Amino acid sequence: MAQAKTRTLRDDIDEILPGVVADRRDLHQHPELAFQEVRTAGIVADRLRALGVEDVRTGIAQTGVTGLIRGAQGDGKTVLLRADMDALPILEENEVDYVSQNPGVMHACGHDAHTAMLLGVTRLLLDRRDDFAGTVKVLFQPAEESPPGGAKPMIEAGVLEDPPVDAVFGIHVAQEHPVGEIRLRPGPAMAAADRFTIRIRGKGGHGARPQSTIDPIVIGAHIVTALQTLVSRSVDPTEEAVVTVGVFKAGEAFNVIPDTAELGGTVRTFTPENRDLLEERIGTLARGIAQAMGAEIDYAYTRGYPATVNDSEMTELVREEAAKVVGADHVVESPLIMGAEDFSYFLEARPGAFWFVGSKNPERGLVWGHHHPKFDLDEAAMAIGMESMASVALRYLSDEAGDGRREAADRV
Ligand code: MN
Repeated sequence: MAQAKTRTLRDDIDEILPGVVADRRDLHQHPELAFQEVRTAGIVADRLRALGVEDVRTGIAQTGVTGLIRGAQGDGKTVLLRADMDALPILEENEVDYVSQNPGVMHACGHDAHTAMLLGVTRLLLDRRDDFAGTVKVLFQPAEESPPGGAKPMIEAGVLEDPPVDAVFGIHVAQEHPVGEIRLRPGPAMAAADRFTIRIRGKGGHGARPQSTIDPIVIGAHIVTALQTLVSRSVDPTEEAVVTVGVFKAGEAFNVIPDTAELGGTVRTFTPENRDLLEERIGTLARGIAQAMGAEIDYAYTRGYPATVNDSEMTELVREEAAKVVGADHVVESPLIMGAEDFSYFLEARPGAFWFVGSKNPERGLVWGHHHPKFDLDEAAMAIGMESMASVALRYLSDEAGDGRREAADRV
Protein backbone atom coordinates (compact mmCIF):
# COMPACT_ATOMS: atom_id res chain seq x y z
CA MET A 1 0.00 0.00 0.00
CA ALA A 2 1.21 3.45 -0.88
CA GLN A 3 4.29 1.71 -2.17
CA ALA A 4 4.93 4.33 -4.82
CA LYS A 5 5.17 7.01 -2.18
CA THR A 6 8.34 7.74 -0.32
CA ARG A 7 6.41 9.46 2.41
CA THR A 8 4.87 7.07 4.86
CA LEU A 9 1.51 7.53 6.52
CA ARG A 10 3.40 8.28 9.69
CA ASP A 11 5.34 11.09 8.03
CA ASP A 12 2.09 12.66 6.93
CA ILE A 13 0.48 12.14 10.32
CA ASP A 14 3.40 13.86 12.05
CA GLU A 15 2.76 16.80 9.78
CA ILE A 16 -1.00 17.03 10.22
CA LEU A 17 -1.25 16.01 13.89
CA PRO A 18 -1.03 19.56 15.32
CA GLY A 19 -3.97 20.55 13.11
CA VAL A 20 -5.94 17.47 14.08
CA VAL A 21 -5.31 18.17 17.76
CA ALA A 22 -6.43 21.76 17.22
CA ASP A 23 -9.62 20.47 15.57
CA ARG A 24 -10.25 18.16 18.49
CA ARG A 25 -9.75 20.94 21.00
CA ASP A 26 -12.05 23.24 19.06
CA LEU A 27 -14.75 20.57 19.02
CA HIS A 28 -14.07 19.91 22.69
CA GLN A 29 -14.69 23.58 23.48
CA HIS A 30 -17.98 23.52 21.58
CA PRO A 31 -19.66 20.23 22.46
CA GLU A 32 -23.17 19.53 21.21
CA LEU A 33 -25.71 16.98 22.43
CA ALA A 34 -27.30 14.22 20.37
CA PHE A 35 -28.99 15.43 17.16
CA GLN A 36 -27.91 18.99 17.95
CA GLU A 37 -24.46 18.67 16.35
CA VAL A 38 -25.14 21.62 14.03
CA ARG A 39 -21.87 23.49 14.50
CA THR A 40 -19.87 20.26 14.47
CA ALA A 41 -21.55 18.96 11.32
CA GLY A 42 -21.10 22.36 9.68
CA ILE A 43 -17.37 22.30 10.37
CA VAL A 44 -17.14 18.74 9.08
CA ALA A 45 -19.01 19.50 5.86
CA ASP A 46 -17.05 22.70 5.21
CA ARG A 47 -13.80 20.86 5.76
CA LEU A 48 -14.75 17.95 3.51
CA ARG A 49 -15.71 20.34 0.71
CA ALA A 50 -12.56 22.42 1.17
CA LEU A 51 -10.43 19.28 0.97
CA GLY A 52 -12.09 18.22 -2.25
CA VAL A 53 -14.15 15.31 -0.96
CA GLU A 54 -16.84 14.37 -3.48
CA ASP A 55 -20.58 14.10 -3.01
CA VAL A 56 -20.67 15.70 0.44
CA ARG A 57 -24.13 15.10 1.85
CA THR A 58 -25.44 16.79 4.99
CA GLY A 59 -28.52 16.67 7.19
CA ILE A 60 -28.71 12.88 7.09
CA ALA A 61 -30.70 11.75 10.15
CA GLN A 62 -30.74 15.45 11.11
CA THR A 63 -27.03 16.24 11.41
CA GLY A 64 -25.16 13.33 9.81
CA VAL A 65 -22.60 13.98 7.06
CA THR A 66 -21.05 11.71 4.44
CA GLY A 67 -18.52 12.20 1.67
CA LEU A 68 -16.64 10.14 -0.89
CA ILE A 69 -12.94 9.76 -1.64
CA ARG A 70 -12.60 8.02 -4.98
CA GLY A 71 -9.37 6.23 -5.74
CA ALA A 72 -7.74 7.25 -9.02
CA GLN A 73 -7.01 3.64 -10.00
CA GLY A 74 -10.61 3.03 -10.94
CA ASP A 75 -13.57 1.10 -9.63
CA GLY A 76 -13.31 -1.24 -6.73
CA LYS A 77 -14.77 -1.88 -3.36
CA THR A 78 -16.30 0.77 -1.10
CA VAL A 79 -15.23 0.99 2.50
CA LEU A 80 -17.05 3.09 5.08
CA LEU A 81 -15.19 4.80 7.92
CA ARG A 82 -17.33 6.16 10.73
CA ALA A 83 -16.94 8.77 13.46
CA ASP A 84 -19.53 9.87 15.99
CA MET A 85 -19.95 13.57 16.80
CA ASP A 86 -22.11 13.95 19.91
CA ALA A 87 -21.26 15.03 23.44
CA LEU A 88 -22.83 14.28 26.82
CA PRO A 89 -24.90 16.22 29.39
CA ILE A 90 -22.01 16.51 31.85
CA LEU A 91 -20.48 19.59 33.48
CA GLU A 92 -16.79 19.44 32.67
CA GLU A 93 -14.39 19.66 35.61
CA ASN A 94 -11.12 19.83 33.69
CA GLU A 95 -8.91 22.87 34.03
CA VAL A 96 -7.56 23.07 30.52
CA ASP A 97 -7.56 25.94 28.06
CA TYR A 98 -9.83 23.95 25.76
CA VAL A 99 -12.47 23.33 28.45
CA SER A 100 -16.09 23.18 27.29
CA GLN A 101 -17.58 26.59 26.61
CA ASN A 102 -21.05 25.07 26.75
CA PRO A 103 -21.66 24.52 30.47
CA GLY A 104 -23.35 21.22 31.25
CA VAL A 105 -22.33 19.72 27.92
CA MET A 106 -19.04 17.90 27.52
CA HIS A 107 -17.16 15.68 25.14
CA ALA A 108 -16.59 13.10 27.88
CA CYS A 109 -16.41 10.06 25.65
CA GLY A 110 -13.87 11.21 23.06
CA HIS A 111 -16.20 11.68 20.12
CA ASP A 112 -14.46 15.03 19.53
CA ALA A 113 -11.29 13.01 18.93
CA HIS A 114 -13.14 10.57 16.68
CA THR A 115 -14.46 13.39 14.49
CA ALA A 116 -11.09 15.17 14.32
CA MET A 117 -9.31 11.90 13.54
CA LEU A 118 -11.65 11.03 10.69
CA LEU A 119 -11.09 14.49 9.21
CA GLY A 120 -7.37 13.75 9.45
CA VAL A 121 -7.81 10.33 7.85
CA THR A 122 -9.76 12.01 5.06
CA ARG A 123 -6.73 14.19 4.32
CA LEU A 124 -4.38 11.22 4.41
CA LEU A 125 -6.50 9.21 2.00
CA LEU A 126 -7.14 12.11 -0.36
CA ASP A 127 -3.37 12.52 -0.62
CA ARG A 128 -3.16 8.83 -1.55
CA ARG A 129 -6.04 8.61 -3.99
CA ASP A 130 -3.58 7.86 -6.81
CA ASP A 131 -2.59 4.71 -4.95
CA PHE A 132 -5.90 2.91 -4.68
CA ALA A 133 -8.93 1.71 -6.59
CA GLY A 134 -12.39 1.92 -5.12
CA THR A 135 -14.02 4.37 -2.78
CA VAL A 136 -13.78 5.47 0.81
CA LYS A 137 -16.99 6.78 2.28
CA VAL A 138 -16.39 8.89 5.37
CA LEU A 139 -19.38 9.11 7.69
CA PHE A 140 -19.94 11.42 10.63
CA GLN A 141 -22.95 10.41 12.67
CA PRO A 142 -25.04 12.10 15.32
CA ALA A 143 -26.28 10.80 18.63
CA GLU A 144 -24.27 7.73 19.49
CA GLU A 145 -24.90 8.44 23.17
CA SER A 146 -28.65 8.66 22.92
CA PRO A 147 -30.49 5.45 21.96
CA PRO A 148 -32.10 4.76 19.52
CA GLY A 149 -29.12 6.75 18.24
CA GLY A 150 -27.94 8.19 14.95
CA ALA A 151 -26.53 5.13 13.20
CA LYS A 152 -29.86 3.42 12.59
CA PRO A 153 -31.61 6.39 10.97
CA MET A 154 -28.52 7.08 8.84
CA ILE A 155 -28.65 3.50 7.55
CA GLU A 156 -32.39 3.86 6.97
CA ALA A 157 -31.59 7.03 5.01
CA GLY A 158 -29.44 4.94 2.67
CA VAL A 159 -25.84 5.64 3.68
CA LEU A 160 -24.86 2.03 2.95
CA GLU A 161 -25.92 2.47 -0.69
CA ASP A 162 -24.99 4.79 -3.54
CA PRO A 163 -22.32 3.54 -3.82
CA PRO A 164 -23.02 0.25 -2.08
CA VAL A 165 -20.75 -0.16 0.93
CA ASP A 166 -18.83 -3.44 1.19
CA ALA A 167 -17.27 -3.10 4.63
CA VAL A 168 -17.47 -0.81 7.66
CA PHE A 169 -14.84 0.24 10.17
CA GLY A 170 -14.90 2.40 13.27
CA ILE A 171 -12.74 3.18 16.29
CA HIS A 172 -13.17 4.33 19.85
CA VAL A 173 -10.55 5.86 22.08
CA ALA A 174 -10.25 3.87 25.31
CA GLN A 175 -9.29 5.39 28.64
CA GLU A 176 -9.12 1.92 30.16
CA HIS A 177 -5.98 1.18 28.16
CA PRO A 178 -2.64 2.95 27.87
CA VAL A 179 -1.79 5.02 24.85
CA GLY A 180 0.19 2.85 22.47
CA GLU A 181 -2.14 -0.12 22.77
CA ILE A 182 -4.87 -1.27 20.39
CA ARG A 183 -7.55 -3.70 21.47
CA LEU A 184 -10.07 -5.68 19.51
CA ARG A 185 -11.70 -9.06 19.35
CA PRO A 186 -13.46 -11.10 16.67
CA GLY A 187 -17.14 -11.91 17.02
CA PRO A 188 -19.32 -10.35 19.70
CA ALA A 189 -17.32 -7.52 21.30
CA MET A 190 -19.81 -5.18 22.96
CA ALA A 191 -23.18 -6.02 24.44
CA ALA A 192 -26.71 -5.40 23.34
CA ALA A 193 -28.28 -3.00 25.85
CA ASP A 194 -32.01 -3.27 26.45
CA ARG A 195 -34.30 -1.94 29.16
CA PHE A 196 -37.41 -3.21 30.85
CA THR A 197 -40.11 -1.96 33.18
CA ILE A 198 -42.46 -4.02 35.31
CA ARG A 199 -45.41 -2.25 36.86
CA ILE A 200 -47.00 -4.35 39.59
CA ARG A 201 -50.68 -3.66 40.12
CA GLY A 202 -51.66 -4.81 43.61
CA LYS A 203 -54.16 -3.37 46.06
CA GLY A 204 -53.23 -0.80 48.65
CA GLY A 205 -54.44 -0.40 52.19
CA HIS A 206 -53.50 0.10 55.82
CA GLY A 207 -50.08 -1.15 56.77
CA ALA A 208 -51.58 -2.84 59.83
CA ARG A 209 -54.22 -4.70 57.78
CA PRO A 210 -52.19 -6.56 55.14
CA GLN A 211 -54.83 -9.27 54.84
CA SER A 212 -57.06 -6.87 52.92
CA THR A 213 -54.32 -5.78 50.52
CA ILE A 214 -52.23 -7.21 47.70
CA ASP A 215 -48.83 -5.84 48.61
CA PRO A 216 -46.92 -4.83 45.47
CA ILE A 217 -43.73 -4.19 47.46
CA VAL A 218 -43.48 -7.77 48.71
CA ILE A 219 -44.32 -9.04 45.22
CA GLY A 220 -41.69 -6.73 43.75
CA ALA A 221 -39.11 -8.02 46.20
CA HIS A 222 -39.85 -11.59 45.11
CA ILE A 223 -39.57 -10.60 41.47
CA VAL A 224 -36.22 -8.84 42.01
CA THR A 225 -34.90 -11.93 43.75
CA ALA A 226 -36.22 -14.29 41.10
CA LEU A 227 -34.67 -12.21 38.31
CA GLN A 228 -31.26 -13.04 39.80
CA THR A 229 -31.79 -16.65 38.70
CA LEU A 230 -32.00 -15.78 35.02
CA VAL A 231 -28.30 -15.31 34.40
CA SER A 232 -27.33 -18.08 36.83
CA ARG A 233 -29.96 -20.69 35.84
CA SER A 234 -31.38 -19.82 32.40
CA VAL A 235 -28.43 -18.47 30.42
CA ASP A 236 -25.80 -20.97 29.26
CA PRO A 237 -23.01 -20.65 31.88
CA THR A 238 -20.38 -20.39 29.16
CA GLU A 239 -22.03 -17.20 27.89
CA GLU A 240 -22.23 -13.74 29.41
CA ALA A 241 -25.25 -11.67 30.31
CA VAL A 242 -26.42 -9.14 32.88
CA VAL A 243 -29.84 -8.43 34.35
CA THR A 244 -29.77 -5.42 36.68
CA VAL A 245 -32.76 -3.89 38.43
CA GLY A 246 -31.91 -0.22 38.76
CA VAL A 247 -35.36 1.11 39.64
CA PHE A 248 -37.66 -0.02 42.43
CA LYS A 249 -40.25 2.64 43.22
CA ALA A 250 -43.12 2.14 45.59
CA GLY A 251 -44.86 3.71 48.54
CA GLU A 252 -45.08 7.09 50.21
CA ALA A 253 -45.78 6.39 53.89
CA PHE A 254 -44.42 3.93 56.44
CA ASN A 255 -47.84 2.64 57.41
CA VAL A 256 -49.48 2.46 53.99
CA ILE A 257 -49.32 -0.40 51.52
CA PRO A 258 -49.35 1.21 48.06
CA ASP A 259 -51.44 0.12 45.08
CA THR A 260 -48.51 -0.24 42.74
CA ALA A 261 -44.78 -0.71 42.52
CA GLU A 262 -42.53 -0.13 39.56
CA LEU A 263 -39.36 -1.98 38.66
CA GLY A 264 -36.98 -1.02 35.89
CA GLY A 265 -33.72 -2.46 34.72
CA THR A 266 -31.17 -3.08 32.04
CA VAL A 267 -30.31 -6.30 30.20
CA ARG A 268 -26.96 -6.90 28.48
CA THR A 269 -26.43 -9.82 26.11
CA PHE A 270 -24.13 -10.81 23.26
CA THR A 271 -26.32 -13.11 21.17
CA PRO A 272 -29.79 -12.76 19.65
CA GLU A 273 -30.73 -16.05 21.37
CA ASN A 274 -29.92 -14.77 24.85
CA ARG A 275 -31.62 -11.48 24.07
CA ASP A 276 -34.84 -13.27 23.09
CA LEU A 277 -34.51 -15.65 26.03
CA LEU A 278 -34.21 -12.89 28.64
CA GLU A 279 -36.94 -10.75 27.14
CA GLU A 280 -39.29 -13.73 27.41
CA ARG A 281 -38.09 -15.04 30.78
CA ILE A 282 -38.23 -11.71 32.64
CA GLY A 283 -41.84 -11.26 31.61
CA THR A 284 -42.84 -14.84 32.34
CA LEU A 285 -41.17 -14.87 35.73
CA ALA A 286 -42.58 -11.52 36.82
CA ARG A 287 -46.07 -12.35 35.57
CA GLY A 288 -46.08 -15.76 37.22
CA ILE A 289 -44.91 -14.48 40.59
CA ALA A 290 -47.35 -11.58 40.52
CA GLN A 291 -50.22 -13.87 39.53
CA ALA A 292 -49.40 -16.38 42.24
CA MET A 293 -49.55 -13.56 44.76
CA GLY A 294 -52.76 -12.06 43.42
CA ALA A 295 -51.43 -9.13 41.41
CA GLU A 296 -51.05 -8.29 37.75
CA ILE A 297 -48.21 -6.67 35.89
CA ASP A 298 -47.63 -4.45 32.90
CA TYR A 299 -44.37 -5.53 31.30
CA ALA A 300 -42.48 -3.52 28.71
CA TYR A 301 -39.16 -4.56 27.15
CA THR A 302 -37.45 -2.01 24.94
CA ARG A 303 -34.57 -3.03 22.73
CA GLY A 304 -31.63 -0.65 22.58
CA TYR A 305 -28.48 -1.10 20.54
CA PRO A 306 -27.78 -4.66 19.39
CA ALA A 307 -24.51 -6.41 20.19
CA THR A 308 -21.44 -5.12 18.35
CA VAL A 309 -20.23 -8.14 16.40
CA ASN A 310 -16.93 -7.98 14.52
CA ASP A 311 -16.44 -10.02 11.38
CA SER A 312 -13.55 -12.49 11.94
CA GLU A 313 -11.83 -11.85 8.63
CA MET A 314 -12.09 -8.07 8.98
CA THR A 315 -10.87 -8.30 12.59
CA GLU A 316 -7.82 -10.21 11.40
CA LEU A 317 -7.16 -7.53 8.78
CA VAL A 318 -7.35 -4.82 11.46
CA ARG A 319 -5.17 -6.86 13.79
CA GLU A 320 -2.45 -7.15 11.13
CA GLU A 321 -2.54 -3.46 10.29
CA ALA A 322 -2.67 -2.49 13.98
CA ALA A 323 0.43 -4.62 14.61
CA LYS A 324 2.29 -2.57 12.00
CA VAL A 325 1.25 0.63 13.78
CA VAL A 326 1.91 -0.22 17.44
CA GLY A 327 3.76 -3.54 17.27
CA ALA A 328 2.20 -6.97 17.68
CA ASP A 329 2.94 -6.94 21.41
CA HIS A 330 0.67 -3.94 21.81
CA VAL A 331 -2.30 -5.39 19.98
CA VAL A 332 -4.31 -7.01 22.74
CA GLU A 333 -7.40 -9.18 22.61
CA SER A 334 -10.17 -7.04 24.07
CA PRO A 335 -12.28 -8.55 26.82
CA LEU A 336 -16.03 -8.56 26.25
CA ILE A 337 -17.43 -5.14 27.02
CA MET A 338 -20.86 -4.97 28.66
CA GLY A 339 -21.41 -1.43 27.33
CA ALA A 340 -23.12 -0.87 24.00
CA GLU A 341 -22.34 1.11 20.84
CA ASP A 342 -24.55 1.90 17.87
CA PHE A 343 -21.79 1.09 15.38
CA SER A 344 -23.41 -2.32 15.94
CA TYR A 345 -26.07 -1.39 13.37
CA PHE A 346 -23.41 -0.92 10.71
CA LEU A 347 -21.90 -4.27 11.65
CA GLU A 348 -25.31 -5.94 11.45
CA ALA A 349 -25.62 -4.70 7.90
CA ARG A 350 -22.05 -5.19 6.60
CA PRO A 351 -18.88 -7.05 7.59
CA GLY A 352 -16.37 -4.92 9.39
CA ALA A 353 -14.70 -4.28 12.71
CA PHE A 354 -14.63 -1.81 15.57
CA TRP A 355 -11.45 -1.39 17.59
CA PHE A 356 -10.21 0.46 20.66
CA VAL A 357 -7.27 2.82 20.68
CA GLY A 358 -5.76 3.17 24.15
CA SER A 359 -5.66 6.80 25.30
CA LYS A 360 -4.82 6.65 29.01
CA ASN A 361 -1.63 8.22 30.29
CA PRO A 362 -1.21 8.03 34.09
CA GLU A 363 2.04 10.04 33.98
CA ARG A 364 0.09 12.99 32.68
CA GLY A 365 -2.91 12.39 34.96
CA LEU A 366 -5.07 11.34 32.01
CA VAL A 367 -6.72 8.49 33.87
CA TRP A 368 -10.38 9.40 34.16
CA GLY A 369 -12.82 7.09 32.48
CA HIS A 370 -15.43 7.69 29.84
CA HIS A 371 -18.39 9.86 30.91
CA HIS A 372 -16.43 11.22 33.89
CA PRO A 373 -16.38 15.02 34.33
CA LYS A 374 -12.57 14.90 34.29
CA PHE A 375 -12.34 12.67 31.21
CA ASP A 376 -9.51 13.70 28.90
CA LEU A 377 -7.28 11.71 26.60
CA ASP A 378 -3.67 11.57 25.54
CA GLU A 379 -3.84 13.11 22.09
CA ALA A 380 -0.92 10.93 20.98
CA ALA A 381 -3.63 8.27 20.67
CA MET A 382 -5.06 10.26 17.77
CA ALA A 383 -1.97 9.60 15.68
CA ILE A 384 -2.36 5.88 16.33
CA GLY A 385 -6.07 6.03 15.63
CA MET A 386 -5.51 7.79 12.31
CA GLU A 387 -2.71 5.52 11.20
CA SER A 388 -4.65 2.37 12.03
CA MET A 389 -7.80 3.61 10.34
CA ALA A 390 -6.09 4.86 7.18
CA SER A 391 -4.04 1.66 6.96
CA VAL A 392 -7.11 -0.51 7.35
CA ALA A 393 -8.97 1.37 4.62
CA LEU A 394 -6.06 1.18 2.17
CA ARG A 395 -5.44 -2.46 2.98
CA TYR A 396 -9.11 -3.36 2.58
CA LEU A 397 -9.33 -1.65 -0.79
CA SER A 398 -6.12 -3.25 -2.06
CA ASP A 399 -6.88 -6.68 -0.63
CA GLU A 400 -8.66 -9.41 -2.50
CA ALA A 401 -10.02 -10.71 0.78
CA GLY A 402 -13.71 -10.34 1.33
CA ASP A 403 -14.66 -9.44 -2.22
CA GLY A 404 -15.06 -12.91 -3.66
CA ARG A 405 -11.99 -12.49 -5.89
CA ARG A 406 -9.56 -14.42 -3.76
CA GLU A 407 -7.72 -16.02 -6.67
CA ALA A 408 -5.38 -13.04 -7.00
CA ALA A 409 -2.28 -13.01 -4.87
CA ASP A 410 -2.20 -10.99 -1.70
CA ARG A 411 -0.48 -7.81 -2.78
CA VAL A 412 0.02 -6.33 0.63
MN1 MN B 1 -18.56 6.72 22.99
